[in-house]
Amino acid sequence: NTSWDHETDILVVGTGAGAMTAALRAAQAGAKVLMVEKGSHYGGTSATSGGGLWIPANHLMPGCSIPDSEEEALGYMRALTGEDVPEANVRAYVANGRRMLRWLVDHSRVEFQAMSYYADYYQHLAGAKPGGRSVDPLPYDARLLGDDFSRLQEPHRQTRVMGLMGYTNTEGAILLSKSPGWFRLLLKLALGYFLDLPWRLFSRRSRRLTMGNALVARLRHSLLDAGVPVWLSAPAVDLLPDGQGGVAGATVRQQGRLLRVKARKAVILGSGGFEHNQELRQRHLPAPSDTRWSAANPHNTGDMLLAAQKLGAATALMDEAWWGPTIRLPDEDRARMLFTERSMPGAIVVNLAGQRFFNESVAYTTAVQAMYRPGNLPAYIVFDARYKREYPYGPLLPGGMRLNWLQPRQERLLRRGATLAELAARLGVDAAGLEATVARFNGFAAAGKDGDYQRGENPYDLLYGDVRIQPNPCLAPVAEGPFYGMEIHPGDIGTKGGLKTDEHGRVLDGNGAPLRGLYAIGNCAASVTGRYYPGAGATLGPAMTFGFLAAEHACAVT
Ligand code: FAD
Repeated sequence: NTSWDHETDILVVGTGAGAMTAALRAAQAGAKVLMVEKGSHYGGTSATSGGGLWIPANHLMPGCSIPDSEEEALGYMRALTGEDVPEANVRAYVANGRRMLRWLVDHSRVEFQAMSYYADYYQHLAGAKPGGRSVDPLPYDARLLGDDFSRLQEPHRQTRVMGLMGYTNTEGAILLSKSPGWFRLLLKLALGYFLDLPWRLFSRRSRRLTMGNALVARLRHSLLDAGVPVWLSAPAVDLLPDGQGGVAGATVRQQGRLLRVKARKAVILGSGGFEHNQELRQRHLPAPSDTRWSAANPHNTGDMLLAAQKLGAATALMDEAWWGPTIRLPDEDRARMLFTERSMPGAIVVNLAGQRFFNESVAYTTAVQAMYRPGNLPAYIVFDARYKREYPYGPLLPGGMRLNWLQPRQERLLRRGATLAELAARLGVDAAGLEATVARFNGFAAAGKDGDYQRGENPYDLLYGDVRIQPNPCLAPVAEGPFYGMEIHPGDIGTKGGLKTDEHGRVLDGNGAPLRGLYAIGNCAASVTGRYYPGAGATLGPAMTFGFLAAEHACAVT
Protein backbone atom coordinates (compact mmCIF):
# COMPACT_ATOMS: atom_id res chain seq x y z
CA ASN A 1 0.00 0.00 0.00
CA THR A 2 2.96 2.32 -0.18
CA SER A 3 3.19 3.17 -3.88
CA TRP A 4 0.70 5.89 -4.74
CA ASP A 5 0.43 7.57 -8.13
CA HIS A 6 -1.33 10.61 -6.75
CA GLU A 7 -2.12 12.01 -3.30
CA THR A 8 -4.84 14.31 -2.10
CA ASP A 9 -6.72 15.01 1.13
CA ILE A 10 -10.22 14.43 -0.21
CA LEU A 11 -11.06 12.36 -3.27
CA VAL A 12 -14.57 13.09 -4.56
CA VAL A 13 -15.98 10.51 -6.98
CA GLY A 14 -18.52 11.99 -9.41
CA THR A 15 -19.38 15.56 -10.36
CA GLY A 16 -23.08 15.91 -9.55
CA ALA A 17 -24.26 18.89 -7.50
CA GLY A 18 -23.78 17.00 -4.20
CA ALA A 19 -20.24 15.99 -5.10
CA MET A 20 -19.42 19.56 -6.12
CA THR A 21 -20.83 20.95 -2.89
CA ALA A 22 -18.68 18.49 -0.94
CA ALA A 23 -15.59 19.46 -2.93
CA LEU A 24 -16.24 23.16 -2.46
CA ARG A 25 -16.84 22.89 1.28
CA ALA A 26 -13.69 20.79 1.72
CA ALA A 27 -11.58 23.16 -0.39
CA GLN A 28 -12.80 26.15 1.57
CA ALA A 29 -11.88 24.32 4.78
CA GLY A 30 -8.31 24.19 3.49
CA ALA A 31 -8.20 20.62 2.17
CA LYS A 32 -6.53 19.57 -1.07
CA VAL A 33 -9.36 18.14 -3.19
CA LEU A 34 -9.49 16.05 -6.37
CA MET A 35 -12.69 15.22 -8.25
CA VAL A 36 -12.83 12.31 -10.70
CA GLU A 37 -15.60 11.83 -13.25
CA LYS A 38 -16.36 8.79 -15.38
CA GLY A 39 -17.98 10.74 -18.23
CA SER A 40 -16.29 13.08 -20.69
CA HIS A 41 -18.42 15.92 -19.30
CA TYR A 42 -19.04 17.02 -15.71
CA GLY A 43 -22.39 17.42 -13.96
CA GLY A 44 -24.06 14.00 -14.20
CA THR A 45 -27.84 13.84 -13.93
CA SER A 46 -27.65 16.94 -11.75
CA ALA A 47 -26.68 19.05 -14.77
CA THR A 48 -29.61 17.68 -16.77
CA SER A 49 -32.13 18.19 -13.99
CA GLY A 50 -34.54 20.92 -13.01
CA GLY A 51 -31.90 21.98 -10.48
CA GLY A 52 -34.51 22.57 -7.78
CA LEU A 53 -33.55 21.94 -4.13
CA TRP A 54 -36.05 21.09 -1.40
CA ILE A 55 -34.78 22.86 1.70
CA PRO A 56 -37.22 23.24 4.61
CA ALA A 57 -37.27 26.51 6.55
CA ASN A 58 -34.82 28.07 4.10
CA HIS A 59 -33.82 31.73 4.31
CA LEU A 60 -35.78 32.67 1.17
CA MET A 61 -39.16 31.58 2.52
CA PRO A 62 -39.92 34.66 4.61
CA GLY A 63 -39.59 36.65 1.35
CA CYS A 64 -42.63 34.85 -0.04
CA SER A 65 -44.52 35.03 3.27
CA ILE A 66 -44.61 31.28 3.83
CA PRO A 67 -43.78 30.57 7.47
CA ASP A 68 -41.90 27.35 8.17
CA SER A 69 -39.98 25.79 11.02
CA GLU A 70 -37.68 22.83 11.60
CA GLU A 71 -40.39 21.27 13.81
CA GLU A 72 -43.00 21.38 11.03
CA ALA A 73 -40.54 19.98 8.52
CA LEU A 74 -39.50 17.21 10.92
CA GLY A 75 -43.15 16.22 11.44
CA TYR A 76 -43.72 16.06 7.68
CA MET A 77 -40.50 14.13 7.06
CA ARG A 78 -41.14 11.69 9.91
CA ALA A 79 -44.62 10.90 8.55
CA LEU A 80 -42.98 10.00 5.24
CA THR A 81 -39.88 8.18 6.42
CA GLY A 82 -41.33 6.19 9.35
CA GLU A 83 -38.95 3.40 10.32
CA ASP A 84 -37.17 3.49 6.97
CA VAL A 85 -34.65 6.20 7.87
CA PRO A 86 -32.70 6.76 11.10
CA GLU A 87 -34.09 9.73 13.05
CA ALA A 88 -30.59 11.24 13.35
CA ASN A 89 -30.27 11.42 9.55
CA VAL A 90 -33.65 13.12 9.15
CA ARG A 91 -32.75 15.63 11.86
CA ALA A 92 -29.35 16.29 10.30
CA TYR A 93 -30.99 17.01 6.97
CA VAL A 94 -33.66 19.33 8.29
CA ALA A 95 -31.23 21.24 10.51
CA ASN A 96 -28.40 21.51 7.98
CA GLY A 97 -30.13 21.89 4.60
CA ARG A 98 -30.83 25.55 5.36
CA ARG A 99 -27.30 26.01 6.72
CA MET A 100 -25.82 24.51 3.55
CA LEU A 101 -27.98 26.78 1.36
CA ARG A 102 -27.03 29.90 3.29
CA TRP A 103 -23.36 28.92 3.23
CA LEU A 104 -23.41 28.38 -0.55
CA VAL A 105 -25.11 31.68 -1.20
CA ASP A 106 -22.59 33.47 1.02
CA HIS A 107 -19.44 31.63 -0.15
CA SER A 108 -19.94 30.76 -3.81
CA ARG A 109 -21.47 31.87 -7.09
CA VAL A 110 -24.60 29.82 -6.44
CA GLU A 111 -27.86 31.79 -6.18
CA PHE A 112 -31.50 30.81 -5.93
CA GLN A 113 -35.03 32.16 -5.95
CA ALA A 114 -37.81 30.64 -3.88
CA MET A 115 -40.54 28.77 -5.74
CA SER A 116 -43.44 30.07 -3.73
CA TYR A 117 -45.94 28.25 -5.98
CA TYR A 118 -44.28 24.81 -5.87
CA ALA A 119 -46.34 22.83 -3.37
CA ASP A 120 -44.93 19.93 -1.34
CA TYR A 121 -46.00 16.59 -2.79
CA TYR A 122 -48.12 15.16 0.07
CA GLN A 123 -50.54 17.95 0.85
CA HIS A 124 -52.68 15.77 3.14
CA LEU A 125 -49.85 15.43 5.68
CA ALA A 126 -49.34 17.82 8.58
CA GLY A 127 -46.38 20.08 7.95
CA ALA A 128 -46.78 20.12 4.13
CA LYS A 129 -46.35 23.62 2.68
CA PRO A 130 -48.07 25.18 -0.35
CA GLY A 131 -44.65 26.28 -1.65
CA GLY A 132 -41.36 27.94 -0.76
CA ARG A 133 -39.33 24.93 0.39
CA SER A 134 -38.28 24.35 -3.22
CA VAL A 135 -35.72 26.77 -4.59
CA ASP A 136 -34.78 27.41 -8.22
CA PRO A 137 -31.21 28.23 -9.34
CA LEU A 138 -30.91 31.64 -10.99
CA PRO A 139 -29.86 31.57 -14.66
CA TYR A 140 -26.16 31.77 -15.41
CA ASP A 141 -24.22 33.20 -18.33
CA ALA A 142 -22.14 30.38 -19.84
CA ARG A 143 -19.53 32.89 -21.02
CA LEU A 144 -18.41 33.29 -17.41
CA LEU A 145 -17.25 29.65 -17.41
CA GLY A 146 -14.78 30.18 -20.26
CA ASP A 147 -13.44 26.93 -21.74
CA ASP A 148 -15.13 24.89 -19.05
CA PHE A 149 -18.51 25.49 -20.69
CA SER A 150 -17.64 22.97 -23.43
CA ARG A 151 -17.12 20.31 -20.76
CA LEU A 152 -20.43 20.90 -18.98
CA GLN A 153 -22.99 18.12 -19.53
CA GLU A 154 -25.72 19.43 -21.86
CA PRO A 155 -29.17 19.91 -20.38
CA HIS A 156 -31.80 17.22 -20.88
CA ARG A 157 -33.74 17.85 -24.07
CA GLN A 158 -36.96 17.90 -22.15
CA THR A 159 -35.83 20.98 -20.24
CA ARG A 160 -35.52 23.09 -23.41
CA VAL A 161 -38.25 24.65 -25.54
CA MET A 162 -37.98 23.02 -28.99
CA GLY A 163 -34.89 21.25 -27.68
CA LEU A 164 -33.09 24.63 -27.80
CA MET A 165 -33.96 27.30 -25.24
CA GLY A 166 -33.64 26.78 -21.53
CA TYR A 167 -36.08 28.24 -19.02
CA THR A 168 -36.10 28.45 -15.25
CA ASN A 169 -38.61 26.43 -13.23
CA THR A 170 -40.37 29.68 -12.46
CA GLU A 171 -40.61 30.57 -16.17
CA GLY A 172 -41.67 27.00 -16.99
CA ALA A 173 -44.60 27.24 -14.58
CA ILE A 174 -45.86 30.38 -16.36
CA LEU A 175 -45.44 28.87 -19.83
CA LEU A 176 -47.10 25.56 -19.02
CA SER A 177 -50.10 26.95 -17.22
CA LYS A 178 -50.44 29.71 -19.83
CA SER A 179 -50.62 32.20 -17.00
CA PRO A 180 -50.91 35.88 -17.94
CA GLY A 181 -47.81 37.04 -19.81
CA TRP A 182 -46.83 33.56 -21.02
CA PHE A 183 -46.61 34.52 -24.68
CA ARG A 184 -44.52 37.62 -24.03
CA LEU A 185 -42.16 35.47 -21.95
CA LEU A 186 -41.87 32.94 -24.77
CA LEU A 187 -41.00 35.71 -27.22
CA LYS A 188 -38.40 37.08 -24.83
CA LEU A 189 -36.76 33.67 -24.46
CA ALA A 190 -36.78 33.13 -28.23
CA LEU A 191 -35.33 36.58 -28.96
CA GLY A 192 -32.64 36.13 -26.33
CA TYR A 193 -31.73 32.79 -27.88
CA PHE A 194 -31.69 33.74 -31.56
CA LEU A 195 -30.04 37.13 -31.03
CA ASP A 196 -27.07 35.68 -29.16
CA LEU A 197 -24.80 36.56 -32.08
CA PRO A 198 -22.32 35.59 -33.43
CA TRP A 199 -22.40 32.49 -31.16
CA ARG A 200 -25.74 31.41 -32.63
CA LEU A 201 -24.17 31.00 -36.05
CA PHE A 202 -21.96 28.10 -35.00
CA SER A 203 -23.72 26.49 -32.03
CA ARG A 204 -27.30 25.52 -31.21
CA ARG A 205 -26.46 25.42 -27.54
CA SER A 206 -27.98 28.15 -25.40
CA ARG A 207 -25.57 30.22 -23.30
CA ARG A 208 -28.30 31.29 -20.94
CA LEU A 209 -27.97 28.37 -18.55
CA THR A 210 -30.97 27.47 -16.40
CA MET A 211 -32.14 24.73 -14.03
CA GLY A 212 -29.57 21.98 -13.33
CA ASN A 213 -27.15 23.43 -15.90
CA ALA A 214 -27.15 26.75 -14.04
CA LEU A 215 -26.68 25.04 -10.70
CA VAL A 216 -23.76 22.91 -11.88
CA ALA A 217 -22.17 25.78 -13.85
CA ARG A 218 -22.33 28.03 -10.79
CA LEU A 219 -20.79 25.28 -8.64
CA ARG A 220 -18.11 24.54 -11.23
CA HIS A 221 -17.19 28.20 -11.46
CA SER A 222 -16.91 28.35 -7.68
CA LEU A 223 -14.65 25.27 -7.79
CA LEU A 224 -12.48 26.96 -10.43
CA ASP A 225 -12.19 29.93 -8.06
CA ALA A 226 -11.10 27.51 -5.33
CA GLY A 227 -8.60 25.77 -7.63
CA VAL A 228 -10.19 22.31 -7.43
CA PRO A 229 -9.20 20.05 -10.36
CA VAL A 230 -11.65 17.70 -12.09
CA TRP A 231 -10.34 14.73 -14.03
CA LEU A 232 -12.80 13.85 -16.81
CA SER A 233 -13.10 10.42 -18.46
CA ALA A 234 -11.53 9.09 -15.26
CA PRO A 235 -13.75 6.47 -13.62
CA ALA A 236 -13.00 5.29 -10.12
CA VAL A 237 -12.70 1.55 -10.52
CA ASP A 238 -12.24 0.26 -6.99
CA LEU A 239 -11.74 1.37 -3.40
CA LEU A 240 -8.46 0.65 -1.64
CA PRO A 241 -8.67 -0.57 1.96
CA ASP A 242 -6.31 0.89 4.58
CA GLY A 243 -5.72 -2.51 6.19
CA GLN A 244 -7.53 -1.45 9.39
CA GLY A 245 -11.13 -1.75 8.25
CA GLY A 246 -11.21 1.66 6.55
CA VAL A 247 -10.50 3.18 3.15
CA ALA A 248 -7.20 4.71 2.07
CA GLY A 249 -8.00 5.73 -1.50
CA ALA A 250 -9.21 4.45 -4.85
CA THR A 251 -7.98 3.19 -8.17
CA VAL A 252 -8.88 5.52 -11.00
CA ARG A 253 -8.57 4.77 -14.70
CA GLN A 254 -7.12 7.67 -16.64
CA GLN A 255 -6.04 7.55 -20.27
CA GLY A 256 -5.79 3.78 -20.17
CA ARG A 257 -3.72 3.67 -16.97
CA LEU A 258 -4.92 2.49 -13.57
CA LEU A 259 -3.76 5.04 -11.00
CA ARG A 260 -3.70 4.49 -7.25
CA VAL A 261 -4.98 7.68 -5.67
CA LYS A 262 -4.40 8.17 -1.96
CA ALA A 263 -7.01 10.17 -0.01
CA ARG A 264 -5.41 11.26 3.27
CA LYS A 265 -8.68 12.34 4.85
CA ALA A 266 -11.53 10.71 2.93
CA VAL A 267 -13.10 9.36 -0.22
CA ILE A 268 -16.52 10.91 -0.78
CA LEU A 269 -18.69 8.87 -3.14
CA GLY A 270 -21.08 10.95 -5.23
CA SER A 271 -21.21 8.55 -8.14
CA GLY A 272 -25.00 8.42 -8.53
CA GLY A 273 -27.37 5.47 -8.36
CA PHE A 274 -27.48 2.15 -10.23
CA GLU A 275 -30.28 3.12 -12.63
CA HIS A 276 -28.28 2.16 -15.70
CA ASN A 277 -27.22 -1.27 -14.46
CA GLN A 278 -29.80 -3.77 -15.74
CA GLU A 279 -28.52 -6.60 -13.56
CA LEU A 280 -28.84 -4.56 -10.36
CA ARG A 281 -32.27 -3.28 -11.45
CA GLN A 282 -33.44 -6.84 -11.93
CA ARG A 283 -32.01 -7.92 -8.60
CA HIS A 284 -33.48 -5.08 -6.55
CA LEU A 285 -36.25 -3.08 -8.23
CA PRO A 286 -39.84 -4.22 -8.80
CA ALA A 287 -40.50 -5.96 -12.14
CA PRO A 288 -40.67 -5.08 -14.93
CA SER A 289 -37.64 -2.79 -14.93
CA ASP A 290 -35.49 -1.50 -17.74
CA THR A 291 -32.49 0.83 -17.95
CA ARG A 292 -34.07 2.36 -21.06
CA TRP A 293 -36.86 3.79 -18.92
CA SER A 294 -34.48 5.89 -16.85
CA ALA A 295 -34.10 9.60 -17.58
CA ALA A 296 -30.83 9.74 -15.63
CA ASN A 297 -27.17 9.88 -16.67
CA PRO A 298 -26.14 6.66 -18.49
CA HIS A 299 -22.83 6.45 -16.58
CA ASN A 300 -24.60 5.76 -13.30
CA THR A 301 -24.12 2.00 -13.06
CA GLY A 302 -23.55 1.51 -9.34
CA ASP A 303 -19.75 1.02 -9.62
CA MET A 304 -18.90 2.48 -6.22
CA LEU A 305 -21.89 0.86 -4.54
CA LEU A 306 -20.46 -2.51 -5.53
CA ALA A 307 -16.91 -1.49 -4.57
CA ALA A 308 -18.03 -0.39 -1.09
CA GLN A 309 -20.08 -3.56 -0.61
CA LYS A 310 -16.92 -5.59 -1.19
CA LEU A 311 -15.42 -3.79 1.83
CA GLY A 312 -18.39 -4.70 4.02
CA ALA A 313 -20.64 -1.65 3.52
CA ALA A 314 -24.32 -2.15 4.28
CA THR A 315 -27.18 -1.01 2.03
CA ALA A 316 -30.79 0.09 2.48
CA LEU A 317 -33.89 0.89 0.38
CA MET A 318 -32.44 -0.95 -2.60
CA ASP A 319 -35.90 -1.56 -4.08
CA GLU A 320 -36.63 2.17 -4.35
CA ALA A 321 -36.13 4.83 -7.00
CA TRP A 322 -37.09 8.41 -7.65
CA TRP A 323 -39.87 7.10 -9.82
CA GLY A 324 -41.57 8.86 -12.68
CA PRO A 325 -43.56 7.79 -15.75
CA THR A 326 -41.32 8.06 -18.81
CA ILE A 327 -41.33 7.70 -22.57
CA ARG A 328 -38.35 6.88 -24.75
CA LEU A 329 -37.56 8.40 -28.15
CA PRO A 330 -35.54 6.20 -30.50
CA ASP A 331 -32.79 8.78 -31.15
CA GLU A 332 -32.21 9.88 -27.55
CA ASP A 333 -29.75 8.37 -25.04
CA ARG A 334 -32.12 8.54 -22.07
CA ALA A 335 -35.84 8.57 -21.38
CA ARG A 336 -38.03 11.65 -20.93
CA MET A 337 -40.04 12.14 -17.78
CA LEU A 338 -43.70 12.99 -18.07
CA PHE A 339 -43.58 15.58 -15.29
CA THR A 340 -46.45 17.67 -16.62
CA GLU A 341 -48.23 15.86 -19.45
CA ARG A 342 -50.36 13.58 -17.23
CA SER A 343 -51.57 16.52 -15.27
CA MET A 344 -52.68 18.84 -18.04
CA PRO A 345 -56.47 18.73 -18.42
CA GLY A 346 -57.78 16.24 -20.96
CA ALA A 347 -55.15 13.53 -20.45
CA ILE A 348 -55.90 10.33 -18.60
CA VAL A 349 -53.85 7.21 -17.84
CA VAL A 350 -55.42 3.77 -18.21
CA ASN A 351 -54.45 0.11 -17.89
CA LEU A 352 -55.09 -2.71 -20.38
CA ALA A 353 -58.71 -2.87 -19.23
CA GLY A 354 -59.07 0.77 -20.30
CA GLN A 355 -59.59 1.85 -16.69
CA ARG A 356 -58.08 4.81 -14.86
CA PHE A 357 -56.33 3.76 -11.66
CA PHE A 358 -55.06 6.93 -9.99
CA ASN A 359 -55.20 10.71 -9.90
CA GLU A 360 -53.10 11.60 -12.94
CA SER A 361 -52.03 14.92 -11.38
CA VAL A 362 -50.15 13.38 -8.43
CA ALA A 363 -46.38 13.74 -8.14
CA TYR A 364 -44.27 11.46 -10.31
CA THR A 365 -43.09 9.01 -7.65
CA THR A 366 -46.68 8.41 -6.51
CA ALA A 367 -47.70 7.90 -10.16
CA VAL A 368 -45.27 5.01 -10.66
CA GLN A 369 -46.15 3.52 -7.28
CA ALA A 370 -49.72 3.33 -8.66
CA MET A 371 -48.47 1.87 -11.97
CA TYR A 372 -46.70 -0.94 -10.11
CA ARG A 373 -49.91 -1.98 -8.30
CA PRO A 374 -51.18 -5.30 -9.73
CA GLY A 375 -53.09 -5.03 -12.99
CA ASN A 376 -51.89 -1.58 -14.01
CA LEU A 377 -48.96 -2.36 -16.32
CA PRO A 378 -48.68 -1.82 -19.18
CA ALA A 379 -50.14 1.66 -18.78
CA TYR A 380 -51.19 4.13 -21.47
CA ILE A 381 -51.71 7.87 -21.65
CA VAL A 382 -54.75 8.93 -23.70
CA PHE A 383 -55.82 12.40 -24.84
CA ASP A 384 -57.78 14.12 -27.58
CA ALA A 385 -57.20 16.60 -30.41
CA ARG A 386 -57.90 19.62 -28.20
CA TYR A 387 -55.24 18.53 -25.71
CA LYS A 388 -52.74 17.97 -28.51
CA ARG A 389 -53.44 21.42 -29.91
CA GLU A 390 -53.14 23.18 -26.56
CA TYR A 391 -50.27 21.58 -24.62
CA PRO A 392 -46.75 20.31 -25.18
CA TYR A 393 -46.46 16.53 -25.04
CA GLY A 394 -42.92 15.12 -24.76
CA PRO A 395 -41.13 16.59 -27.79
CA LEU A 396 -44.40 17.64 -29.48
CA LEU A 397 -45.21 21.33 -29.31
CA PRO A 398 -48.71 22.75 -29.04
CA GLY A 399 -50.47 23.48 -32.35
CA GLY A 400 -49.52 27.13 -32.81
CA MET A 401 -45.84 26.47 -32.17
CA ARG A 402 -45.33 23.45 -34.42
CA LEU A 403 -42.27 23.33 -36.61
CA ASN A 404 -43.04 21.27 -39.68
CA TRP A 405 -39.47 20.08 -40.24
CA LEU A 406 -39.29 18.71 -36.70
CA GLN A 407 -42.73 17.38 -36.08
CA PRO A 408 -43.50 14.48 -38.46
CA ARG A 409 -40.84 12.08 -37.14
CA GLN A 410 -41.90 12.76 -33.58
CA GLU A 411 -45.61 12.41 -34.37
CA ARG A 412 -44.90 8.72 -34.89
CA LEU A 413 -44.52 8.43 -31.14
CA LEU A 414 -48.27 8.48 -30.78
CA ARG A 415 -50.96 6.01 -31.79
CA ARG A 416 -53.99 7.69 -33.34
CA GLY A 417 -57.63 6.74 -33.79
CA ALA A 418 -60.57 8.58 -35.33
CA THR A 419 -62.67 7.13 -32.51
CA LEU A 420 -61.82 5.90 -29.03
CA ALA A 421 -62.52 2.33 -30.16
CA GLU A 422 -60.04 2.69 -33.01
CA LEU A 423 -57.39 4.10 -30.68
CA ALA A 424 -58.06 1.30 -28.16
CA ALA A 425 -57.52 -1.28 -30.91
CA ARG A 426 -54.22 0.35 -31.91
CA LEU A 427 -53.02 0.40 -28.30
CA GLY A 428 -54.27 -3.10 -27.52
CA VAL A 429 -56.52 -1.74 -24.77
CA ASP A 430 -60.07 -2.99 -24.09
CA ALA A 431 -62.29 -0.73 -26.25
CA ALA A 432 -65.49 -0.98 -24.22
CA GLY A 433 -63.50 -0.36 -21.04
CA LEU A 434 -61.87 2.75 -22.49
CA GLU A 435 -65.18 4.13 -23.80
CA ALA A 436 -66.85 3.63 -20.44
CA THR A 437 -63.91 5.22 -18.60
CA VAL A 438 -63.91 8.27 -20.88
CA ALA A 439 -67.70 8.70 -20.61
CA ARG A 440 -67.42 8.65 -16.81
CA PHE A 441 -64.39 10.96 -16.82
CA ASN A 442 -66.11 13.43 -19.14
CA GLY A 443 -68.96 13.62 -16.65
CA PHE A 444 -66.42 14.52 -13.94
CA ALA A 445 -64.91 17.14 -16.24
CA ALA A 446 -68.32 18.72 -16.85
CA ALA A 447 -68.96 18.85 -13.10
CA GLY A 448 -65.41 20.01 -12.30
CA LYS A 449 -65.10 17.20 -9.76
CA ASP A 450 -63.26 13.91 -10.13
CA GLY A 451 -65.55 11.50 -8.25
CA ASP A 452 -63.02 8.66 -8.43
CA TYR A 453 -59.62 10.17 -7.61
CA GLN A 454 -60.24 13.80 -6.56
CA ARG A 455 -57.92 15.15 -9.25
CA GLY A 456 -57.35 18.87 -9.00
CA GLU A 457 -58.40 19.22 -5.39
CA ASN A 458 -55.10 20.18 -3.79
CA PRO A 459 -52.41 22.78 -4.50
CA TYR A 460 -49.93 20.26 -5.90
CA ASP A 461 -52.36 18.98 -8.55
CA LEU A 462 -53.03 22.52 -9.70
CA LEU A 463 -49.35 23.17 -10.39
CA TYR A 464 -49.67 21.77 -13.91
CA GLY A 465 -53.32 22.58 -14.50
CA ASP A 466 -54.56 25.08 -17.07
CA VAL A 467 -55.75 28.20 -15.25
CA ARG A 468 -58.08 29.04 -18.15
CA ILE A 469 -60.17 25.97 -17.38
CA GLN A 470 -62.57 26.44 -14.49
CA PRO A 471 -63.74 25.38 -11.98
CA ASN A 472 -61.16 22.60 -12.07
CA PRO A 473 -57.95 23.42 -14.04
CA CYS A 474 -56.96 19.72 -14.06
CA LEU A 475 -60.15 18.40 -15.69
CA ALA A 476 -61.24 18.74 -19.33
CA PRO A 477 -63.19 16.21 -21.38
CA VAL A 478 -61.52 13.72 -23.72
CA ALA A 479 -64.02 14.44 -26.46
CA GLU A 480 -62.64 15.82 -29.71
CA GLY A 481 -61.34 13.30 -32.24
CA PRO A 482 -58.92 12.18 -33.39
CA PHE A 483 -57.75 10.57 -30.17
CA TYR A 484 -54.13 9.86 -29.27
CA GLY A 485 -52.29 7.57 -26.90
CA MET A 486 -49.10 5.66 -26.20
CA GLU A 487 -47.60 3.33 -23.64
CA ILE A 488 -45.80 5.02 -20.75
CA HIS A 489 -43.18 3.29 -18.60
CA PRO A 490 -42.58 2.99 -14.87
CA GLY A 491 -39.30 4.89 -15.17
CA ASP A 492 -37.10 6.99 -12.92
CA ILE A 493 -34.76 9.95 -12.60
CA GLY A 494 -32.36 7.85 -10.52
CA THR A 495 -32.43 5.06 -7.97
CA LYS A 496 -32.57 6.02 -4.29
CA GLY A 497 -31.42 2.91 -2.46
CA GLY A 498 -27.75 2.60 -1.74
CA LEU A 499 -25.06 2.64 0.90
CA LYS A 500 -26.22 3.01 4.46
CA THR A 501 -24.84 6.20 5.98
CA ASP A 502 -25.00 8.05 9.29
CA GLU A 503 -25.87 11.68 9.96
CA HIS A 504 -22.40 12.79 8.77
CA GLY A 505 -22.64 10.82 5.51
CA ARG A 506 -20.20 8.15 6.77
CA VAL A 507 -20.71 4.75 5.14
CA LEU A 508 -21.72 2.10 7.69
CA ASP A 509 -20.90 -1.59 7.82
CA GLY A 510 -23.29 -4.41 8.68
CA ASN A 511 -22.87 -3.69 12.40
CA GLY A 512 -23.68 -0.02 12.01
CA ALA A 513 -20.06 1.06 12.49
CA PRO A 514 -18.55 3.67 10.13
CA LEU A 515 -15.97 2.55 7.57
CA ARG A 516 -13.18 5.02 8.32
CA GLY A 517 -12.45 7.42 5.49
CA LEU A 518 -15.51 6.58 3.38
CA TYR A 519 -18.57 8.80 2.84
CA ALA A 520 -21.48 8.47 0.40
CA ILE A 521 -23.95 11.11 -0.75
CA GLY A 522 -26.65 11.59 -3.37
CA ASN A 523 -28.12 8.54 -5.04
CA CYS A 524 -25.09 6.44 -4.14
CA ALA A 525 -26.43 6.48 -0.55
CA ALA A 526 -29.78 5.26 0.80
CA SER A 527 -32.06 8.29 0.72
CA VAL A 528 -32.92 10.33 3.79
CA THR A 529 -36.44 10.69 2.37
CA GLY A 530 -37.15 6.93 2.57
CA ARG A 531 -39.75 5.69 0.10
CA TYR A 532 -41.27 9.05 -0.71
CA TYR A 533 -40.52 12.33 -2.49
CA PRO A 534 -41.33 15.18 -0.10
CA GLY A 535 -41.23 17.98 -2.67
CA ALA A 536 -39.48 19.38 -5.75
CA GLY A 537 -35.75 19.20 -5.18
CA ALA A 538 -35.84 16.36 -2.65
CA THR A 539 -33.06 14.48 -4.41
CA LEU A 540 -30.61 17.37 -4.91
CA GLY A 541 -31.39 19.06 -1.57
CA PRO A 542 -30.22 16.02 0.45
CA ALA A 543 -27.35 15.25 -1.98
CA MET A 544 -25.92 18.73 -1.45
CA THR A 545 -26.67 18.82 2.27
CA PHE A 546 -24.93 15.53 2.97
CA GLY A 547 -22.11 16.48 0.60
CA PHE A 548 -21.65 19.57 2.74
CA LEU A 549 -21.86 17.59 6.00
CA ALA A 550 -19.50 14.86 4.77
CA ALA A 551 -16.88 17.46 3.84
CA GLU A 552 -17.21 19.23 7.19
CA HIS A 553 -16.86 15.94 9.07
CA ALA A 554 -13.94 14.68 7.00
CA CYS A 555 -12.14 18.02 7.40
CA ALA A 556 -13.08 18.24 11.09
CA VAL A 557 -14.80 21.61 10.60
CA THR A 558 -16.33 22.62 13.90
P1 FAD B 1 -25.38 12.52 -10.61
O1 FAD B 1 -25.75 13.94 -10.65
O2 FAD B 1 -25.80 11.68 -11.77
O3 FAD B 1 -23.80 12.47 -10.48
C1 FAD B 1 -23.12 11.25 -10.47
C2 FAD B 1 -21.86 11.40 -11.30
O4 FAD B 1 -20.97 10.34 -10.99
C3 FAD B 1 -22.10 11.34 -12.79
O5 FAD B 1 -21.48 12.44 -13.41
C4 FAD B 1 -21.45 10.03 -13.21
O6 FAD B 1 -20.95 10.07 -14.52
C5 FAD B 1 -20.37 9.89 -12.19
N1 FAD B 1 -19.91 8.50 -11.99
C6 FAD B 1 -20.62 7.36 -11.97
N2 FAD B 1 -19.81 6.32 -11.72
C7 FAD B 1 -18.56 6.82 -11.57
C8 FAD B 1 -17.29 6.25 -11.32
N3 FAD B 1 -17.12 4.93 -11.18
N4 FAD B 1 -16.23 7.07 -11.24
C9 FAD B 1 -16.35 8.43 -11.41
N5 FAD B 1 -17.53 9.02 -11.65
C10 FAD B 1 -18.62 8.21 -11.73
N6 FAD B 1 -33.82 16.31 -8.63
C11 FAD B 1 -34.08 17.37 -7.82
O7 FAD B 1 -33.81 17.31 -6.62
N7 FAD B 1 -34.62 18.52 -8.33
C12 FAD B 1 -34.97 18.64 -9.62
O8 FAD B 1 -35.41 19.71 -10.05
C13 FAD B 1 -34.78 17.52 -10.48
N8 FAD B 1 -35.16 17.57 -11.77
C14 FAD B 1 -34.85 16.53 -12.60
C15 FAD B 1 -35.18 16.63 -13.96
C16 FAD B 1 -34.79 15.64 -14.85
C17 FAD B 1 -35.17 15.75 -16.31
C18 FAD B 1 -34.05 14.52 -14.37
C19 FAD B 1 -33.57 13.46 -15.31
C20 FAD B 1 -33.73 14.41 -13.01
C21 FAD B 1 -34.14 15.39 -12.12
N9 FAD B 1 -33.84 15.32 -10.76
C22 FAD B 1 -34.14 16.36 -9.94
C23 FAD B 1 -33.14 14.15 -10.19
C24 FAD B 1 -31.68 14.51 -9.91
O9 FAD B 1 -31.10 15.09 -11.06
C25 FAD B 1 -30.85 13.30 -9.50
O10 FAD B 1 -31.50 12.56 -8.52
C26 FAD B 1 -29.52 13.80 -8.94
O11 FAD B 1 -28.86 14.59 -9.90
C27 FAD B 1 -28.62 12.69 -8.50
O12 FAD B 1 -27.43 13.27 -8.04
P2 FAD B 1 -26.13 12.38 -7.83
O13 FAD B 1 -25.04 13.30 -7.45
O14 FAD B 1 -26.45 11.24 -6.96
O15 FAD B 1 -25.87 11.78 -9.29
